[in-house]
Amino acid sequence: MKTSPNTIDHRSYVEVDLEQIKRNYNVLKALVPDSEIVAVMKADAYGHGDGMLSAFLENECGVKYFAVSNIDEAITLRYAGVTGHILILGYTAPEHARLLFENKISQTVVSEEYAKMMAKTGYPIRYQIAIDTGMNRIGLNASKPKDCAAKVRKIAAMLHVEGIFTHFCVADTATQENANFTHRQIEKFDAVATLLEDLRLPFVHCCNSAGSLAYYDDIPASLKKYVRLGIVLYGLSPDPSFPLPKKLSPALSWISHVSMVKKVPAGESIGYGRTYTTPSERVIATIPTGYADGYSRRLSNSGYVLINGMKAPIVGKVCMDQFMVDVTSIPGVKMGSRVTLLGKDADECLTADGMATMIDTIGYEIICNISKRVQRFYRKND
Ligand SMILES: *Cc1c(COP(=O)(O)O)cnc(C)c1O
Repeated sequence: MKTSPNTIDHRSYVEVDLEQIKRNYNVLKALVPDSEIVAVMKADAYGHGDGMLSAFLENECGVKYFAVSNIDEAITLRYAGVTGHILILGYTAPEHARLLFENKISQTVVSEEYAKMMAKTGYPIRYQIAIDTGMNRIGLNASKPKDCAAKVRKIAAMLHVEGIFTHFCVADTATQENANFTHRQIEKFDAVATLLEDLRLPFVHCCNSAGSLAYYDDIPASLKKYVRLGIVLYGLSPDPSFPLPKKLSPALSWISHVSMVKKVPAGESIGYGRTYTTPSERVIATIPTGYADGYSRRLSNSGYVLINGMKAPIVGKVCMDQFMVDVTSIPGVKMGSRVTLLGKDADECLTADGMATMIDTIGYEIICNISKRVQRFYRKND
């Protein structure tokens, strides 16, 4: 296992606290006592590193179920040694049927047409059918539960169907309208599942993070034997308005360092486009991380980093590989000073959720975008 690096050896790096992942997992397990947790590992485990995270969750936390978005991610988990159940939540080209079979991956059926194409491949793959209760993304439309159930039966006659699932689209925001919509989704799914009870499908599930935390008690036991948890496992919130349980905390820190410090006289511009002009003599530090590392250019002139436990505002545009911050009011900043792009520094903490609200997105996008050239390291207390 890679342990913590010297700050200065890397332009920037990500450090994942595996013990925090385990704490989050245990907190969540207690919150969904009637369910098995399916750990959602898509997008490289939301930027945390899917091989390491999935192996850790299986070996050290006892997770038996995983979900990913595509065949490459599924195989990465197998290469990492994961022996548990893996479900691909999205489309896999029928050309990859053999890989699905050989790696014992369960595949989502996105449509009837897809089911027919997969049946033609002849591989005895296990499938779960997506049921569309209002997201209008993939799955069989559930607005007429009887028709929907009949289609499931038709597909179950062609393929080995081990389950059905649906997905909530507004469980993360608590307006009355969204609560009503989520309840309608639950009702539609329940209607379909009830009509199919005789099939005794082992996998019948509907909850993502938001659904699991906000609607758990409203969901019939038969629909929550499994819950699919992504973002909350990583200690982040499904939506800025969503009240995250206090015991959950981010596991990912993103660290860089100062590459250069200099005094810049009043009236000078900084960076591309000359979007910032020093109002007085300023001390400016350069940081060797940029948008090619996934540090959003939208943070230009609006975000901040933490140095010596204090906030340093970004000045000028974020470049491809570097950006500048104003450290005039922070004593002792020098080449090599540790810079926290995400994470804790003394009493200050900048989370992906916090950064996301600065640029009108969600924490998911911030962590998924940290690019592959930023090396991941893992901390674990033995
Ligand atoms: C991404 C995804 C999840 C996990 O969502 P979170 O909000 O991260 O918990 C669950 N189910 C499906 C179908 C998904 O695509």
